[in-house]
Amino acid sequence: MSDTRQTVQHPPPAEARLIGAHMPTSGGLYKSLTLGREIDCSAVQLFTCSPRQWNHATLKQEDVKRFLDAKHDTGIVFTVAHDSYLINLAAPSEEILWKSQAAFRSELERAEMLDIGWLVTHMGAHLDQGEDEALERLAQSVTQILDETDKLGYKVGIALETTAGQGTGLGWRFEQLGRILAAVGDHTRLGVCLDTCHVFVAGYDLRGQKAYELTWSEFDREIGYNKLKVIHANDAKKPLGSRVDRHEHIGNGEIGAEPFARLMTDPRLAHVPVIVETPDSDTMHAENVARLRRLASGQSPKISVTVQLYGHLSDVNSGEYLTLEMPFFATVADVAELLAKRDKRLENIRANCRFAVGEEYTDLTRKVYDGAVVAVLPPVSGG
Ligand SMILES: [Zn+2]
Ligand SMILES: [Zn+2]
Repeated sequence: MSDTRQTVQHPPPAEARLIGAHMPTSGGLYKSLTLGREIDCSAVQLFTCSPRQWNHATLKQEDVKRFLDAKHDTGIVFTVAHDSYLINLAAPSEEILWKSQAAFRSELERAEMLDIGWLVTHMGAHLDQGEDEALERLAQSVTQILDETDKLGYKVGIALETTAGQGTGLGWRFEQLGRILAAVGDHTRLGVCLDTCHVFVAGYDLRGQKAYELTWSEFDREIGYNKLKVIHANDAKKPLGSRVDRHEHIGNGEIGAEPFARLMTDPRLAHVPVIVETPDSDTMHAENVARLRRLASGQSPKISVTVQLYGHLSDVNSGEYLTLEMPFFATVADVAELLAKRDKRLENIRANCRFAVGEEYTDLTRKVYDGAVVAVLPPVSGG
């Protein structure tokens, strides 16, 4: 195919930890890599075809070459594909099952051609036709596909993703994944992808040391750390156990920044690449990747900011400084919002006041930092 396959020469950026995002492929599959590089990804996830079509497009040789060349040029060492949403390898209908297996094989073939390490797949749904039978069908599908592609010498692996437990979806309990792994038998090309949002809304808490450890010990008991190949790092819009899958920016959701700080510095997970699948990818993927990198470097998820109120506003705190605890990615706008919540008299400061950080006037988008002094100055007419 190409002689660039095994010859990645550039080291991953900044830190050794593989961190990245699910990247778009409009304009060509290679775009996921070049755009990923621009936002400091050392790992990239992509769809190798439209995720909402029964589409078995075979890749063009030139597209494969462009992708492998981009992999070489960007130095992005870890790539992972996500399969189509339509695929249900546990489907009770024979027609859908057959269609799913054919589509999945073509997903695997594309991933193999592109030298992608893992293909992430959801575990399918039992559609009220019995969970046990569905898990059995899934195990059979996976075994058969692994056997067939083993014979073809494939290297790409299958990573079963933990799910949120919406509807009749399988894979929201670690036991279900454990059962598939046991039924298929030990296989180096079979692993698991853990999605932090999915496990959280499925009922596995990650907040606080105790809950975090409990969740991971259950994971290890039912699945095993050695089976973990990818982590999807997504915060959750919906609460613990809600079984509703809505992704949120890292630290802004129900999970919060602290569990991600733990996750990114957990030595047991150091070998596992981390991918964000958070909203507003165009504008926010760079930010979410940066948040994970900062946490991976050991930065505390919380910072302390001192606020100094001037003019008539100083009455609010009798002229004293205010100390606020903020998430590590907070901006001046977040400071203004928190102040507005604390005291009615500060309700309109965001619109009316000027702000300075470290004695320098700034706009609301500016990030604050641990130990920052933020000055809030009322309109000139008022003082
Ligand atoms: Zn995911
Ligand atoms: Zn999800």
